Amino acid sequence: MGLTNSSIGTNAIDSGLEIKKRCQCDKVVALAGNPNVGKSTVFNGLTGMNQHTGNWPGKTVTNAQGYCQTKNQSYVMVDIPGTYSLMAHSAEEEVARNFICFADPDAVIVVCDATCLERNLNLVLQTMEISKNVVVCINLMDEAKRKNISIDIERLSQILGVPVVSTVARKKKSLDSLLRTLDRTVFEKEKKDIYKITYCDDIEKAISIIEPTVKQLFGNKLNCRWLSLKLLDRDPSLIKEINAYFGEGLLHNKQLIKAVDKAKKYLNENNVTADILNDSIVSSIVKACEEIAAKTICYQSEKYNSFDRRMDKILTSRATGYPVMIILIALIFWITIIGANYPSEVLSNILFYFQDRLTDFFNYINAPQWLHGAVVLGIYRVLAWVVSVMLPPMAIFFPLFTLLEDAGYLPRIAYNLDKTFKKCCACGKQSLTMCMGFGCNAAGVVGCRIIDSPRERLLAILTNNFVPCNGRFPTLITLITMFFVGSAGGLSTLISASLLTCIIVFGILVTFMATKLLSKTLLKGTPSSFTLELPPYRKPQVGKVIVRSIFDRTLFVLGRAASVAAPAGLIIWLMANVHVNDISLLSHCANFLDPFAKLMGLDGVILIAFILGFPANEIVLPIIIMAYTAQGTLVEMESVMQMKELFVANGWTWMTAVSVMLFSLMHWPCSTTVLTIKKETGSIKWTLLSAALPTVIGIVCCMLFNFIVRIFV
Ligand code: GDP
Repeated sequence: MGLTNSSIGTNAIDSGLEIKKRCQCDKVVALAGNPNVGKSTVFNGLTGMNQHTGNWPGKTVTNAQGYCQTKNQSYVMVDIPGTYSLMAHSAEEEVARNFICFADPDAVIVVCDATCLERNLNLVLQTMEISKNVVVCINLMDEAKRKNISIDIERLSQILGVPVVSTVARKKKSLDSLLRTLDRTVFEKEKKDIYKITYCDDIEKAISIIEPTVKQLFGNKLNCRWLSLKLLDRDPSLIKEINAYFGEGLLHNKQLIKAVDKAKKYLNENNVTADILNDSIVSSIVKACEEIAAKTICYQSEKYNSFDRRMDKILTSRATGYPVMIILIALIFWITIIGANYPSEVLSNILFYFQDRLTDFFNYINAPQWLHGAVVLGIYRVLAWVVSVMLPPMAIFFPLFTLLEDAGYLPRIAYNLDKTFKKCCACGKQSLTMCMGFGCNAAGVVGCRIIDSPRERLLAILTNNFVPCNGRFPTLITLITMFFVGSAGGLSTLISASLLTCIIVFGILVTFMATKLLSKTLLKGTPSSFTLELPPYRKPQVGKVIVRSIFDRTLFVLGRAASVAAPAGLIIWLMANVHVNDISLLSHCANFLDPFAKLMGLDGVILIAFILGFPANEIVLPIIIMAYTAQGTLVEMESVMQMKELFVANGWTWMTAVSVMLFSLMHWPCSTTVLTIKKETGSIKWTLLSAALPTVIGIVCCMLFNFIVRIFV
């Protein structure tokens, strides 16, 4: 079956009809599933897109859309957030439920985990209550095989009355068969007998009292049996959505009110209270899943996950959990630092060789000095610095971090940190959003949607910036290499990796303190409980991880940095070369900020660099270099050590380096993150606080550090 693909983007609220119109496609298909069952991998396999995948539940928080074409049909696939049930308990579950229930997709593919199918059947059965066209995709068949679990696919399909396809999405195995089945399902006029959950007699009777009225009023717009049950159940958020779907006034319809009242009266008379109703619905579904599982799944070995349990004993136990976590982070930094040094130098040599050739060219064409200055010494030089300083560490750090993510270690970090977060009256899931912040704080802020309680979500958003993003890592690594690592190889890299780990751990400690402070003042409340599922350990896909982390993260970040660095390079060059009263604009600004900056152990130039670095943190260091070189101290920048000479000539000591690192860790978020915070919180007040909080803490820390060191040194 031929496939052509293209990306469409991400949107949380479009209805199926709107999507069809906008994308001019024939059918809209929702991809549903429990978290971490490989839904995004199936989505990527079908659409050729690169929606983020990772081995932990809760990554997908919005509906990503992608296009795919078969011989007969064009489809828009919508990857909706993972959900265990359609009785939504969290924001992302609500997004998922609303799409399946109210966006009118032409079909729903429910992706299931073959290693725990019984639990996944819950969502399958609930989806079948709503949607006519359901295709069940049993993924992770390779893992099931390894764990000696066998599934009778044909029998399952017979019982459910819907097509079932088994896949190994990671290897793209059977995805074409999934598409063929989908094609057949959306065209099929005659539907088989679809499995129906049978509730207890009282509930069945109550449904039968309401159903005829619902059918009469709304025809087949929504499944009448399901709608009748939900009217009895009266989940307020769902009722709001149902009302919006049918237009206001649904629940004011006299005939319907009468039918619902009659059904409720019947339930009351039979002692079925709201709680009993709820419990009974849930237990009927669970019982149905058990029955189906008993007929279709065969576990040939009880000890199938003993490896996972042994690993968890080491990675999440009280005694070893924290030390292993710190050692792993330090190891990643060590490999990054040791690996980045040499390529950084080579890149720098190449790029600065071209700077000289560019200069030769400008001389050759007799270009005016200002043009050469602006283009070569302004734009090109900053770009060259961004590339040579940032590319190597990122190209090493991201794949390593993604490997940990793919192996399933990130949720273990959340598990380890949960207790501490609870002590700060926050939620353990905050640590997952912090992990996302390592990549990009804006992504971390969006990721906070995985936290259900609005108070805890806000806590996580306001403190996400204390985790250094990829834009700040290179600055930290470069400064550590410059000031704390001598020329001697092995041991010094170990020291610098430990230093970087200390900085990160310090950032985490500040996150705890700031979270505690906020939860005792502006955001008071008790921590909510949550269930975090620890996913199985999986062998990471090394090749794919490397390719994806280089393309999706490294080059993306580099592109963003370069696009900001070029104009920033020009501005800084202009500021250094436009003179007022014989003093450059840059010197005016630097002199103005200097006294305050000195209190923090910085200087005016550094502070300006942080201010101009607002669009992207990546360019702070290049701006500092530009500013120093533009002020006359010209140094050929061929290695990090020569860069150090430039800094030392401008008055830097190890204390300046530490102050810059502290301020880099704790100052206002970059413009993208600020805009994201505004979007996520919808409040200027919280956005301003999110910028003020790290800045004030950063200034205080820098001042304290300098004050204390001056006393003792
Ligand atoms: P989602 O949360 O359901 O979107 O899950 P993802 O698509 O992000 O996948 C979760 C993890 O399972 C990732 O590490 C995938 O590489 C892995 N994965 C997905 N499909 C398969 C599969 O068929 N076999 C194996 N072994 N791993 C898979």
